[in-house]
Amino acid sequence: MYPDKIFYEPAVLHYELGTKLREKFNTVPWIPIESHNNIEQLRKNENNQFAKMKQHLIIGVRKSLKYTPNHKVSDFLVPYTSSGCSAMCLYCYLVCNYNKCAYLRLFVNREQMMAKLVKTAGASHKDIVFEIGSNSDLILENTITQNLEWTIEEFAKKEKGFLTFPTKFDMVEPLTSLNHKGRIIIRMSVNPQEIIRKIEFGTSPLSKRIDAINQMSAAGYKVGLLIAPVIMVENWKALYKELIEQLADQLSEKTRKQLIIEIIFMTYSYVHRAINQDAFPNAVNLFDDKLMTGRGRGKYWYRQDIRTEGEEFLRKELSQKLSDVPILYVI
Ligand code: SF4
Repeated sequence: MYPDKIFYEPAVLHYELGTKLREKFNTVPWIPIESHNNIEQLRKNENNQFAKMKQHLIIGVRKSLKYTPNHKVSDFLVPYTSSGCSAMCLYCYLVCNYNKCAYLRLFVNREQMMAKLVKTAGASHKDIVFEIGSNSDLILENTITQNLEWTIEEFAKKEKGFLTFPTKFDMVEPLTSLNHKGRIIIRMSVNPQEIIRKIEFGTSPLSKRIDAINQMSAAGYKVGLLIAPVIMVENWKALYKELIEQLADQLSEKTRKQLIIEIIFMTYSYVHRAINQDAFPNAVNLFDDKLMTGRGRGKYWYRQDIRTEGEEFLRKELSQKLSDVPILYVI
C-alpha cells in the first residue's frame, strides 16, 4: 500500500517507527490530527467516500492496552500495532466498530505493547495464547511497518506464551526465516475464489493463501485454517465443495498434519448495508431477507435452519476430503 494522504498525531514523530514512516512516505501530504479516534473531516464524509478513505493511512499512539478475555483459540484479545485495514471485504467485522472510518491505523508504541505481553505471559502459571490480530490484518500491516517480523522475534526471546493471528494475505515470505521457536500460530482465512473476487476486495487470491500457509508450516510455524465467513450466495454448495477439494489438493502433508479448522458463518449488519449500497452499488448484495434474521443491535445472521444445513454440508464435505483435519468449532 502506498497511501494518498497521511493523518498523524504529532507525537508519533517522537517514535522510531513514526520517523521511519515519515521518510518512507515523504511524497504525500501529512496532515496533523488531535486523535486517531476522531478525525472530524473523515467522519463527516459521505458513505460513498468509503473506498477513497481506505487509501489514507492514520498514524497514532495507542493509549488503551486493555485485554479482553476470549475462549476460542486464545485466552485474550490484545489491542496491538494496528486497527482497521486497507482491504475492503464487504462484510468486514471492523465496520461494525469503526463504521466508515475502518481505514488502516498504525500505532507506533510497539515496545509498550510488547512489554505488557511479556509481563502478562511471564506472570501466568500456564502458557497463555494472545490473539494479536483481531483488530486488523497483521500480514498486511507488516508490508508497511515490519512490525510483525519484530514482534515474532522479540516475543520468541522470552520463555512463555503463544501469539496467534488470522490473515487473508499471502505476503509471508519475510517471516519464514525468523527465529519463532514454535510460539506463533498463524491462521489462514479462506473462502471460494469466486467469493474472494466478488466480496473480499483487495485481499490475496485463494491459491496464494494456500501456498502461504504451506510455506509457514514448512518454516516450522503452527498453522490453522479458518473457513470464514461462510456466505450463502446462490451457488454456495458448489463453491464450498470446490474450495474443500482445492484445499485437499493443495495443502501440504506437513500442513495437514497439524491443521485445525474453525468455521464461522457470516454476520452482517445495518451499517454494512448502508455503506455498501452507497460505496459499492454494483457489488453483490449480502443481505438476504429470505435466509437471514435479526441478531440484535442492527445485526443479522443466517436463520438457524440455514446454518444447520450449511454446517452439515461442510462437515460432510470435510469428512470426505480432509478427514484427518479436526474441526475446532462451527459458529
Ligand atoms: S482483510 Fe480482514 S480486516 Fe481487512 S477488510 Fe477484509 S475482513 Fe476486514
